[in-house]
Amino acid sequence: MPVDFYSKLVNARGVYTFRDFVLIPGRSDIEPSNVDLSVNLTSKIKLKLPLVSSPMDTVTEADMAIALARQGGIGIIHRNMSVEEQVENAKKVKRAESFIIRDVVTIRSYQSVSEALDLMQKNSISGLPVVEAGDRLVGILTRRDVNFADKKDDVKSVMTSDVTFAGPNVTIDEAKKIMHQHRVEKLPVVDAEKKLLGLITIKDVYSRERNSLASRDSEGRLLVGAAVSPHDLERAKALERYVDILVSDVAHFHNVNIIEAAKKLTKQVSTEFIVGNIGTEEATRDVVDALGDKIAAIRAGVGSGSICVTSEVTKAGAPTLFAVAQIGQTLHDLGLHIPIIADGGIRAAGDAALALAAGASAVMMGNVFAGCAESPGGLIKIGGEYYKPYRGMGSISSRQKRFALDRYSQPSKGIAEGVEGVVPYRGEVQTVVEEFSAGLRASFGYAGAISITDLQSKANFGVVSAAGVDELRPHNIILPGEEKI
Ligand code: 5GP
Repeated sequence: MPVDFYSKLVNARGVYTFRDFVLIPGRSDIEPSNVDLSVNLTSKIKLKLPLVSSPMDTVTEADMAIALARQGGIGIIHRNMSVEEQVENAKKVKRAESFIIRDVVTIRSYQSVSEALDLMQKNSISGLPVVEAGDRLVGILTRRDVNFADKKDDVKSVMTSDVTFAGPNVTIDEAKKIMHQHRVEKLPVVDAEKKLLGLITIKDVYSRERNSLASRDSEGRLLVGAAVSPHDLERAKALERYVDILVSDVAHFHNVNIIEAAKKLTKQVSTEFIVGNIGTEEATRDVVDALGDKIAAIRAGVGSGSICVTSEVTKAGAPTLFAVAQIGQTLHDLGLHIPIIADGGIRAAGDAALALAAGASAVMMGNVFAGCAESPGGLIKIGGEYYKPYRGMGSISSRQKRFALDRYSQPSKGIAEGVEGVVPYRGEVQTVVEEFSAGLRASFGYAGAISITDLQSKANFGVVSAAGVDELRPHNIILPGEEKI
């Protein structure tokens, strides 16, 4: 049967983008401040805010991941670096905060005060539990104990031997109470034999109270993810102990070789695995068939990224909003509940609200976070304004770093699929996230939705015509900085 080219063309499906829609306001009794933006990013990861930073080398390294996790989201460390560097970044996030420090730096009672001072300085810490063989706690040495001591004295003669300690199941509130009662800033955690299991510091307790939204694991450490190629088992293996989630980082996951590689990887790695990127019903069915319950979540969107030239160069694209709706519908038809992460093209909270309304559980952003103080790269001053560098992971300069090459695999090898430039400096992650959160809450308020699932059932989409787009943004006004007419 001859192919009917004409009908293929005229019956082509619409692939909608964020710019094509608005959320039509609905009856509401919701105050924005009451909106609950929390979400299960995967079955194991619960976030207070549905925000994820892209694994890109101008977006997410340890500093970004720490800052975003403190605000309630999660950062995905990029993979355009050696395995060791990526592991080090993940460890840095895990070390940034914890309820109980597990790898405690200790000292022996026969060592000298001078050795103790060295240890304190090298590790930037102000207290050392003193242990004897078998890690049995016999004392604690704080700055106060050593400040005026003779450097040649041994630890035993200056340490506090009447140590206040806690048992292995101590809660954060109990720990705080004990520390207040005994006026101590460090609380060793021990088992029944007084073997040292960890250390709680008042600094970590306060930081936990300050960052009540923070995304944390069961030990109180910040959550962090890392990007891997499904082909890179070695990297995934090295990272699995240090991250809460591994994230597939390929532009076209709907590729039999990649799906096969992911199948092997998920059999050998125990950390949850987010697949992607995909953007169609067919891809969803194939990926679900092949990987089943190994899929922790799906990264949705091909070609919408602000630095992306994939669609321009190859004419391949499944814009993020379309991808989310396709995947969401397919999962619904299959009776599956797999979270979807809308990835690419999100410029402001309104786009994120559209993505969530269309079925996403969270949004992944590169451009927005690249402009923050905590992204890699310094400030660039152009004409009195500040900017930060931002580049696609498929851009020429990024591909020159060898790991980017396998992201844009076989068919497109040899051409750039991303651009590089600068984005306006936006300030600290905290400010940007607060702005986003306020914007999302306002959108939910208009829709009359109290939560993300509520928005998904209540949202009504309106289609904007090409002619109408201009009316829905500031118009007929000259804005500061746009004085040229
Ligand atoms: P943005 O938030 O800047 O609109 O989009 C970021 C997303 O674009 C990333 O999370 C990733 O999925 C995608 N991306 C990153 N680098 C490239 C690239 O060089 N080419 C393409 N096609 N997509 C990219």
